[in-house]
Amino acid sequence: MNNASSRSTLTTTQRKNASMCQHQPACPTAFSADREAAKPVAHHPEQGWSLLCNGVLLFEDTGELLPDGQIIAPHRSLTAEQVATAA
Ligand SMILES: [Zn+2]
Repeated sequence: MNNASSRSTLTTTQRKNASMCQHQPACPTAFSADREAAKPVAHHPEQGWSLLCNGVLLFEDTGELLPDGQIIAPHRSLTAEQVATAA
C-alpha cells in the first residue's frame, strides 16, 4: 500500500515536470518554427492527416492545425504537380 502510494506520487510529479512529450529529447513545441519535426503519434494516411507529439495536426497537403486552433496554410508547392500527375 505504502509503495503503491509513493509510486503514484512520483508519476504525478514527473508528469507535471515534463512537457507534452514522454520522451527525450523533447519535441519542438507547436509554436516553434520546426514544429513539424515532432514525432507523429497518430498517422491516418487514408484521412490525410497525422497528429504530432506536440499536439499539431499535420495534413497531407502540409497544412497544419495548431493546438490553439490556429491554422497554417499549406506550404509545399509540389502538391499541385502531384495532383496533376495523379489525374
Ligand atoms: Zn514528443
